[in-house]
Amino acid sequence: MNPTWLEPQMQQLRAAFAAGRMPHALLIHEAPGTGGEWLAQWTAQLVLCSAAARAPCGQCSACQHASQWQHPDLLRLTPIENSTQIRIEQVRELAADLALTAHQGGYKVGIICPADDMNRFAANALLKTLEEPPRSTLLVLVASVPSRLPATILSRCQRLRVAAPPREAAVAWLEAVRGPGDWAGVLGVLGDAPWLAAAADPAALLATAAEMRADLEQLSAGAGDPTQCAERWAREQLPLRLACFENWLTERIRTRLLGPDATAEVRRSAHSRAAGPAIRETFELLDAVRELRSSFDVPLNRSVALETLLRRLAPRRAA
Ligand SMILES: [Zn+2]
Repeated sequence: MNPTWLEPQMQQLRAAFAAGRMPHALLIHEAPGTGGEWLAQWTAQLVLCSAAARAPCGQCSACQHASQWQHPDLLRLTPIENSTQIRIEQVRELAADLALTAHQGGYKVGIICPADDMNRFAANALLKTLEEPPRSTLLVLVASVPSRLPATILSRCQRLRVAAPPREAAVAWLEAVRGPGDWAGVLGVLGDAPWLAAAADPAALLATAAEMRADLEQLSAGAGDPTQCAERWAREQLPLRLACFENWLTERIRTRLLGPDATAEVRRSAHSRAAGPAIRETFELLDAVRELRSSFDVPLNRSVALETLLRRLAPRRAA
């Protein structure tokens, strides 16, 4: 089953391709875990499919090979094992390959995911290809934090946004691809990130989440031991736990600090202006958790870093 929330983007791409207006470079700006890479692969099938009128048909050998990342004219760049960065050698190899004639005589497609994992040198190396793209080339960059990419790259890509889907749409999709389960509960823990949810074991995840919520409530009431808690969290499933932590903070801001009926505008002003200290501090903590989530390539003692964050949950003592 196709993810229904990507239908508008698919329509837009189909129309552009049919009209011969396919850009050379596309930036899929996705909310985390919403299917950006799936959309990139679908786009590759669209331009590589041999059944032009029905592209992507999903049946022809081009579609089938592309769906398994085995099409000779489809190249994918992701961080190499044990690294969280895409390196300059990888980009150079991709550029050299894109400059060759397509095996099947049509498009050559390069997908870079997550593109915001390119280090500075890699991004600079890509710039040359973006400035002078070989004919019939399509580069698709998938990123959830495009601001990490140089402006020179961003300005050369046509941007396609993918927002987090409505909860019901995500649940329906998860039921179709993974079978029945408490998917609403899983999304409540992870945020509306169906791709993350699809990779999870619902029962185990909900158990971990319940345990974490108890920890967080306790710490934010000034009880519990942040050192012990940080050590336990850092020992297993830390990325998942940080995702839960982030979502717990977001929920807390939404329901407790702002009230469930707060409008989008109130939320924005709460983030930017002189909001009450509790709100401001929670937003700052949220940023710090996100920072820790995105710095897995930096060698640091995670349990210590986490402990510092957990200590910030405790209510301030009156002076
Ligand atoms: Zn096809």
